[in-house]
Amino acid sequence: MTRTVEGPIHRYTYRDAHTRARQLANALRALNVKLGDRIATLAWNTYRHFEVYYAVSGIGAITHTLNPRLHPSQLTYIVNHAEDSWIFVDLNLVPLVEAVADDIPSVRGVVVMTDKANMPDTSLANAICYEELVEGHADDFEWPEFDENTASSLCYTSGTTGNPKGALYSHRSTIIHAYGSALPDVLHLGENEVVLPVVPMFHVNAWGIPYGATMTGAKLVFPGAGLDGASVHELLATEGVTMTAGVPTVWLNLLNHWRETGTRAQSLKRVIIGGSACPESMIRAFQDEFGAEVRHAWGMTEMSPLGTVSIPKPSMTDPDGRMRKQVKQGRAVFGVQMRIVDDDGREVPHDGEAFGELQVRGPWITSGYFKHDQSEAHDHDGWFATGDVSTMDADGYMEVTDRAKDVIKSGGEWISSIEIENHAMSHPDVAQAAVIGLPHPKWDERPLLIVVPAKGKTPTHADMTAFLEDKVAKWWLPDDTVLTDELPLGATGKVLKAQLREQFGDHTFPETRS
Ligand code: ADP
Repeated sequence: MTRTVEGPIHRYTYRDAHTRARQLANALRALNVKLGDRIATLAWNTYRHFEVYYAVSGIGAITHTLNPRLHPSQLTYIVNHAEDSWIFVDLNLVPLVEAVADDIPSVRGVVVMTDKANMPDTSLANAICYEELVEGHADDFEWPEFDENTASSLCYTSGTTGNPKGALYSHRSTIIHAYGSALPDVLHLGENEVVLPVVPMFHVNAWGIPYGATMTGAKLVFPGAGLDGASVHELLATEGVTMTAGVPTVWLNLLNHWRETGTRAQSLKRVIIGGSACPESMIRAFQDEFGAEVRHAWGMTEMSPLGTVSIPKPSMTDPDGRMRKQVKQGRAVFGVQMRIVDDDGREVPHDGEAFGELQVRGPWITSGYFKHDQSEAHDHDGWFATGDVSTMDADGYMEVTDRAKDVIKSGGEWISSIEIENHAMSHPDVAQAAVIGLPHPKWDERPLLIVVPAKGKTPTHADMTAFLEDKVAKWWLPDDTVLTDELPLGATGKVLKAQLREQFGDHTFPETRS
């Protein structure tokens, strides 16, 4: 089921989808698309995007998902680097392609994902209507056989440092990841589940849900372009959704909507939250107020993306103890190996205290970046360095304390910004919080707490200090608190700390103010 970009609801079966994917496969062949060609999509989560996934990869070409939230200059860089030959674009994203059309010479044409009646007036030279393309071809198609290591899809990382890099997934890695994702203690997919991926198909294949759900026969509910709280709620409530998945920022909107309207989604059993740390207050809201279990998950583009899921063990019966596990990023999904190493490359003890860089290895961890040397991603043993600083406890639960580039170093010791943020967000007057390190003459760096207040509230630094005092070490307490209207978010919904450091770079801490 899809809420289409044009508006109406669309429903069909997997059998119908397969028929149309075969028609599209014939159409791609007619467009002279060959094994290994990159076919880009610039699209929301819809049934047409789903068909493109299967038709393109099924003929041995590579589905290259583009993120519509990227700056046009980044889009141009990525399309040129990937040398995409066609772009499949959603109706309301056509202007984005028009804006860069002159700068992407490898693109032979653009397929607008709509029907004839809705085709827009466009300046694009070679614009084809998706429905005309599909309907113009027969549905008898023999899927070709090729090596399982053939590339099937491509997704570029956000490139917060340097140019974006393309993580290439193979048919083999995609299938193994889909098996792993379907497990009961991972995404719990199956025929009795109704799954709404809020997480976009344009970033890391919507965490693999379009593959895992199809493999197991779960009903898929695609939200199209409507990702606000009210639109997501409507689909959750009317489609009988049992599981949904997305980054923390989208859930803030849904929780606000539920609270403002006094509604909830009765059928919803599980919410998978990842991409950034899920604050305790969000876990409590879903579980205690709205009756849906939160599964906090961690991963990254280079990992297809699933790495860990945090579910307390049945033997953990104390509610506070269970919550302490849920705020962690969790235990490795079977197939993922993890190790945490210090600056000298030695593994740190699994005591929940010692931290270092997290490294991973496994069948769905990318073997290299597209058009890059493999050694750029891995050491000689095949371990991939995640760039996350983390700890591991004796029960095997991993906790990310920071992105390596965001760590705060004070007096030679590290302060976990994620942990302070997490606590700050449980203050009733706080909607969102971010902690950054600012230079300090004596301590090297000290933490600054940046707060987006809850509606109509104005928490002070004294309030926040009093609240945090018994939750973090004294020397972790932020030196100051500033209020702001919103936090800058990147194209994948993460808070842009580099931008915050720029924005608040001139801030002086009270004790150093003259
Ligand atoms: P990008 O494209 O920005 O690299 P990814 O989607 O690959 O984005 O994000 C990967 C990174 O996001 C991880 O390395 C980690 O820093 C962060 N991340 C993902 N999930 C979580 C989580 N549950 N808690 C904390 N950080 C997370």
